[in-house]
Amino acid sequence: MSLKENTVQVFEKVSNACQKSGRTEQEVKVIAVTKYVDSSITRKLVEAGARHLGENRVEPFLAKREALKDLPITWHFIGSLQRRKVKDVINFVDYFHGLDSLKLAQEINKRADHPINCFIQVNISGEESKHGFSETELREALPQLAQLSQLNLVGLMTMAPLGADETLIASIFSKTEALRQTIQQEAWSNMPMTELSMGMSQDYPLAIEAGATFVRIGTAFFE
Ligand SMILES: *Cc1c(COP(=O)(O)O)cnc(C)c1O
Repeated sequence: MSLKENTVQVFEKVSNACQKSGRTEQEVKVIAVTKYVDSSITRKLVEAGARHLGENRVEPFLAKREALKDLPITWHFIGSLQRRKVKDVINFVDYFHGLDSLKLAQEINKRADHPINCFIQVNISGEESKHGFSETELREALPQLAQLSQLNLVGLMTMAPLGADETLIASIFSKTEALRQTIQQEAWSNMPMTELSMGMSQDYPLAIEAGATFVRIGTAFFE
């Protein structure tokens, strides 16, 4: 594995996908998902050019954030967060990507000491195993989410089914973008809804073509 080469390759592929879809590179941020590696490898990744880091578990998130506090990093908590752990971590995340229930939203609202940037996780594919609001559930929850003043709902987050074919993945991604636009147009006060978090190592070029503003890439850096 060469971290430096992999990093160059990932940023090149992002750049190509941007060109293909007439977008600028500044519109798409790469979150390097470091859940597979320790703090010292994570540090090397930042030295190689990563500026956004993502972790999906509370303890490693806090440990890496402490170990790398001398570096210019934007910290993302991706994936699900148990309600009882919200208080330990939520005030230290720059972006939270796993808002998947109203109860979790209420807990965050209660524990936050400043407005927290959150992505609402949606389950567009309808897979049982996936977290997130269905479109119908989200419709119902919006008026209540709109009352939580410590939540800054920046956009939607989704995950495509593992191993699905490209047509299906592309359709899930474009449905998510359409839903984001609809909610953005409704102009709820705490929902700027300008961002879209989707695309992982297997499918990030497709996600960028469909409008992703944040891609979450792990394996591709470390294989
Ligand atoms: C692990 C993880 C990723 C990165 O997945 P890769 O396939 O390793 O790129 C992205 N998003 C979430 C929520 C994850 O848990």
